[in-house]
Amino acid sequence: MPTIPLLDQQEIARILDRLASQVRERHAHCDQVMLVGIERRGADLARRLAALLGHGLGRPVPLGTLDINLYRDDWTSLEGKPHIGRSCIPEDVDGRVVILVDDVLFTGRTIRAALEALLDYGRPSAVELLVLVDRGHRELPIQADYVGRTVNTSRQEHVDVLLTERDGQDAVSLIAP
Ligand code: 5GP
Ligand code: MG
Repeated sequence: MPTIPLLDQQEIARILDRLASQVRERHAHCDQVMLVGIERRGADLARRLAALLGHGLGRPVPLGTLDINLYRDDWTSLEGKPHIGRSCIPEDVDGRVVILVDDVLFTGRTIRAALEALLDYGRPSAVELLVLVDRGHRELPIQADYVGRTVNTSRQEHVDVLLTERDGQDAVSLIAP
């Protein structure tokens, strides 16, 4: 399987710095901001962003996780078959700006399911989306507010995201079928 390197450790670090800056530009003191990472690698990225933001602010930024698994054999209905696993939203979401964080945005179905799961917890004042990679092929009207890197992919390709805390190294590459 041909592999094309897209991002190395330094580039990923630079992108996360930039994304944290963009969050700060929109939400100066991040007073109402809560980061919610989609398990698993979205949650890893949310932890890193919370650390970057918290470092700049001198206080921790609230952090939660949602576990959304889609059964990808079901392509026949727009509803899909999301399975909501164990989620952890540690604080009240009412009135908060919740920033969902994921590693890769593809059809948008995971985020749709994440929104549904999140809104069971309360009524945020706004929900935004931050992704490391947008690989296109949306099937729902869902776009990210903060994008690390846009990558043109075919449906058959796969973006391999490796993160140190889970995979022992930071790297993103494109895997052709
Ligand atoms: P979607 O629901 O938008 O079709 O897919 C997004 C979810 O599936 C994300 O949580 C992401 O982790 C995973 N995903 C979809 N496509 C890829 C891909 O090419 N590479 C990786 N690493 N994850 C993907
Ligand atoms: Mg995922």
